[in-house]
Amino acid sequence: LDDTDPLVIIGSGLAGYHLAKEFRKLDQRTPITIITGDDGTFYSKPLLSASLAHGKTPQQLATASAEDMARELNAEILVHTHVTNLERDARLLTLVSDSGGIRAELRYSRLVFATGASCASLPPIEGDGLARLFQINNLSDYHRFRTALTNRKRVLLIGAGLIGCEFANDLIQAGLEVEVVDLQPWPLANLLPEAAGRDLQQRLEQAGVRFHFGAGVSRLTRTATGLQAELADGSSIDADIALAALGLAANTGLAAAAGITVNRGIVTDRTLQTSDANVFALGDCAEVDGHSLYYVAPLTQSARALAQTLSGTPTPVRYGCLPVAVKTTLRPTVVCPPKPGQQGAWQVSANSDGVSAEFVDADGNLRGFALTGSAITQRETLSSRCLPLMD
Ligand code: FAD
Repeated sequence: LDDTDPLVIIGSGLAGYHLAKEFRKLDQRTPITIITGDDGTFYSKPLLSASLAHGKTPQQLATASAEDMARELNAEILVHTHVTNLERDARLLTLVSDSGGIRAELRYSRLVFATGASCASLPPIEGDGLARLFQINNLSDYHRFRTALTNRKRVLLIGAGLIGCEFANDLIQAGLEVEVVDLQPWPLANLLPEAAGRDLQQRLEQAGVRFHFGAGVSRLTRTATGLQAELADGSSIDADIALAALGLAANTGLAAAAGITVNRGIVTDRTLQTSDANVFALGDCAEVDGHSLYYVAPLTQSARALAQTLSGTPTPVRYGCLPVAVKTTLRPTVVCPPKPGQQGAWQVSANSDGVSAEFVDADGNLRGFALTGSAITQRETLSSRCLPLMD
């Protein structure tokens, strides 16, 4: 094996590009090849759910092209190229171009998975209306949705989680009519205690959003200009277009097929190393020491640590307390969720200005928190008291 083989990164999302940037700060010589199934545009994915109200087009969200990035990073970037196979013994990748016309092999010195996550599969929905149902997980999905939204007025949102609520906030302020359906009893029910969820719900309702909780969509029927959604409780909603925001699933298939250990994500230790010593993972695709987190903060911390490790200084990542700002500008909300399975209970204090909720364990330690409205000013104080995710 030749040590001049490149460091190969699969994926040009925030994880892949952040890693390449951090690595280049430490090492300007090692060749880097980034392979991506999309067009390699650098953009901030979080802005996808907060751009309509500001009139930002998908094109305006693209901050740098793949050519710009290749120049800045002194890297080879292969766009519209899919890695379809990994032979770990030979350190060999199979690459297939979008058109399927070119099939090639590429050898790596070290390999990094930054393959992200895909929208979770939809629950079974019957009917002939699925062509007017969209999901948004990248810039081209967003472009597809924005194009279909032209001259439309009524949007049905399926899912009232973090991304669903951000889209509700954005679409209503852009002058659209918004109905939101969720199986759960209140918005962000997996992240927020009821008082905080209801507080957010109330502010979105005051702006015109209509929520329907406790029943999923069972059928979407195409009408002349739009859709009719039937809910499992027998009620129905008319809309022009539907958007599903039902969570994510890590892209682990390629790693699993190559015999790398995967669980919810590609399993790594705190140095981001997988079960293969030459293969690493970070971002939405990675499960780092048991933590699967689909947020930007953990991936930027991981990129910094992994760049050190790849340039010769083994450096573990240590997730502290990681609060996330929910971009519901109608009711600013911050959530720092306790780790899954954490024992404890929410202690809530609420007034008309906002809700402050602390998740406290049996020993009185702060393990997470949720803040809405003016209570978000407590973010820094609570962050400094909250125990880190990793010891
Ligand atoms: P991705 O951006 O999914 O990139 C994956 C890359 O891998 C892509 O380039 C893809 O083409 C490539 N790829 C995958 N498989 C292959 C293959 N086999 N061959 C070649 N290429 C491949 N987080 C926050 O912290 N705050 C927020 O406010 C926030 N808002 C969000 C709003 C929305 C609408 C969404 C969708 C997410 C939001 N997030 C937010 C989450 C955050 O954006 C993600 O955690 C982050 O962007 C993930 O980056 P990534 O690089 O790991 O994955």
